[in-house]
Amino acid sequence: MTADVIDIAVVGGGIHGAGVAQAASAAGYRTLVLEQTALASGTSGRSSKLVHGGLRYLENAQLRLVRESLRERTLLLSLAPDLVHRVPFFIPIYRDTTRRSWKVGVGLSLYALLGGLAPDTQFAAIPPRSWPDLDGLDTSGLQAVWRYYDAQTDDAALTRAVMKSAVSLGAELACPAEFVSALRTETGYRITYREGGTGYERNCRALVNAAGPWVDRVAHRVTPLPPAPPVELIQGTHVVLTGGLTQGVYYVEAPRDRRAVFLMPWKGRTLVGTTESPYAGDPALVHPLPGEITYLQETVHRYFPGQDLDVVDSFSGLRVLPRSPALPFRRPRRTSLVREVSGRTRYIAIYGGKLTGYRATGARVVAMLKDTLPPASTRSDTSRIPLSPD
Ligand SMILES: Cc1cc2nc3c(=O)[nH]c(=O)nc-3n(C[C@H](O)[C@H](O)[C@H](O)COP(=O)(O)OP(=O)(O)OC[C@H]3O[C@@H](n4cnc5c(N)ncnc54)[C@H](O)[C@@H]3O)c2cc1C
Repeated sequence: MTADVIDIAVVGGGIHGAGVAQAASAAGYRTLVLEQTALASGTSGRSSKLVHGGLRYLENAQLRLVRESLRERTLLLSLAPDLVHRVPFFIPIYRDTTRRSWKVGVGLSLYALLGGLAPDTQFAAIPPRSWPDLDGLDTSGLQAVWRYYDAQTDDAALTRAVMKSAVSLGAELACPAEFVSALRTETGYRITYREGGTGYERNCRALVNAAGPWVDRVAHRVTPLPPAPPVELIQGTHVVLTGGLTQGVYYVEAPRDRRAVFLMPWKGRTLVGTTESPYAGDPALVHPLPGEITYLQETVHRYFPGQDLDVVDSFSGLRVLPRSPALPFRRPRRTSLVREVSGRTRYIAIYGGKLTGYRATGARVVAMLKDTLPPASTRSDTSRIPLSPD
């Protein structure tokens, strides 16, 4: 056993694990990250790849989430210009669209207000004479097209860039390394993990469970069993299509059930998603279902009937959502931080959340651990650290 004590051990090398590691090492804490497969091999490499405020969260009044996400979007556009790009989003309104044009206009006004009316919150209705420029968007029954701006990223590259920043600030990354167990001690936890066929045992003052859809599985390896809210895993599938869209991201309603679906230009191809199907089982085995692929193809054909787009790839990720009778689409998307109810905080688990808000989440986790950890000298401020791709 290594005699040295780690301040914060983080389980998970997704965007949240990377964000906590960056915040912790910037704050001067000795940090270890354990990732069992590869960085961003979980949900953080299978998202819709948007860095956005989440316009549709306004429909369920998640105002704090939207405000924070818009703030983080602005920051990431300046800190990571090679990884996060501003893109136009188009919302077409047809005769049968459920969200009426005036409602979308009100939503966009509120979105701009929550974004502090910054230049990147401008929006407008596109005049009908410009509709033919929209990648062959179906214009029969089309009544209006709104344009606003959000951002796209490469989610896996962003995760690697944040981890690279954490490592440059002193964090230790073990990958691939599987977290096996944690046993509570007087001063924190004794953790065990396996790396390259060897078992390791080390002491840490605090443990952060950033295992995404594995969060409950990791919690069950901790003694005593930490608190855990009731959650459900919801599968979201994307398809990648040949060629296609170039003008921006189209934000449409799926013809089958009127859920919001994005059609996005992506590395010379078109990315379409997502679906929402309940999932039970090993998170590592999640895969697209034939019905999900058909649902997404139907949506593409409804709005771009002239485009001949073949499916070249598909992938699924898992959201961790609060258990509830409500449709997944209507459930809150905020991040929940769960910790012990008594004594000093030595364990925090991250449930749910957004790629976009990783930096704010990392800062919150570290602030919650401040009273548990010995004084440290701050090395940097994550709101000022530039991020660059590999
Ligand atoms: C379909 C879909 C689309 C989304 N689109 C967007 C979007 O466009 N914009 C946005 O902001 N957010 C989006 N999100 C949300 C966002 O992607 C997630 O909130 C975020 O990626 C979760 O990151 P994470 O680090 O918590 O989990 P993960 O990325 O899943 O990372 C967890 C890691 O823990 C590791 N792990 C698990 N168990 C162990 C163990 N025992 N030992 C070591 N390592 C372990 C796993 O290998 C994994 O790499 C989307 C989510 C989904 C599902």
